[in-house]
Amino acid sequence: MLNIDLHCHSTVSDGVLTPAQLVERAHRRGVRVLALTDHDDVAGLEEASHAAAEKNITFINGVEISVTWRGRTIHILGLNVDPEYKPLFNGLQAIRDGRTQRAHTIAAELEKIGIRNSFEGAFAHVGERGLIGRTHFARFLIEKGYAKDMKTVFKKYLVKGKPGYAHHEWAQLSEVIDWITGSGGKAVIAHPARYNLGKNVLLDLLDEFCTLGGAGIEVVSASHTQEQVDIFANHARARALLVSCGSDFHGPGESFYDLGQLPDLPGGCIPVWHDWKLSFPL
Ligand code: AMP
Ligand code: MN
Ligand code: MN
Ligand code: MN
Repeated sequence: MLNIDLHCHSTVSDGVLTPAQLVERAHRRGVRVLALTDHDDVAGLEEASHAAAEKNITFINGVEISVTWRGRTIHILGLNVDPEYKPLFNGLQAIRDGRTQRAHTIAAELEKIGIRNSFEGAFAHVGERGLIGRTHFARFLIEKGYAKDMKTVFKKYLVKGKPGYAHHEWAQLSEVIDWITGSGGKAVIAHPARYNLGKNVLLDLLDEFCTLGGAGIEVVSASHTQEQVDIFANHARARALLVSCGSDFHGPGESFYDLGQLPDLPGGCIPVWHDWKLSFPL
C-alpha cells in the first residue's frame, strides 16, 4: 500500500517539529509522498521540499486555510498549490494578521477569568514566523497547570462557549477555493466530520463547495472514526469528489496518528493523487 500523508504541521504554524525534522520523521516512518499543510502559511514549503528531495520523498506543496462558512470555522486544504501565486500569498498574509488580533482578544478573555499574560505566554511557543493560534495558548495553559493535556485544555477553555474563546471571521470559502485553484492546486475539505454539521448543512456545504470548484474531501483523517470514513467515502463517490488522507500530525505525543501508515482509503474512490506524476509506480 502507498504510504502517503497529505496533512501535517510544522513550527511554521502549530506543529512542534521544524519542516526538516518533520520530513526526517516521515522518512523514518516510510512515507513516500508527503504534503506539508501548515495553517495559513506556505513559509515551510521550501525547507521541507529540499529535505524531502534528499530522502527521495515526493513532496507536495500544501496549506490548510481557515475559512468562515455560515458563521462556522472550517478548514480547506490546498494541495499542489503554487506558494508564490499572489492572490494566495496575499490572502494568507491577511489571515495571519487576523490571527494576531484574535490572539489579543483571546488573551483579554482569559484575563477576565484571572489568567494573566497569556498572549506573551502563548507567544513563547510560537515559531519564527510569528503565527499564533489556539494550540499555542493550549500549550501555555498546560504548562501553567490549568489542564493536563490538549484535549482537556480545548474543552475547558478554547472552544465556543468557554472563557478563552473568541469568535473570528476568517476568509470566505469562495475566495479560498479561487486562491487554491488559481494557483494550480486542488481544494480539499479537511476532516469534514470535525465540524458536526448535521446532515442538511453538510449537504449544503458539499453542494456549495462543488459549485465553487472544490475538488475533494479528506476521508481518512485522525479526526475520523471508521464509520465516519465510510460516510464521507459515500459522499465522495456520490459526487465524484476526489478523496484524500492525512494524519494531521502536530507533534510526538500530541497527535492521534503519527505521520504516514494511515488506514487504507475505502474502495471505489478516486484518490486526489490519481493524476500526479510520481517517480514510482502506484
Ligand atoms: P486555530 O486555527 O488557531 O483556531 O487552532 C486550531 C487548531 O487547534 C487545530 O488545528 C488543532 O491543532 C487544534 N485543536 C482544535 N481543537 C482541538 C482539540 N479539541 N484538541 C486538540 N487540539 C485541537
Ligand atoms: Mn493545528
Ligand atoms: Mn484542521
Ligand atoms: Mn491540520
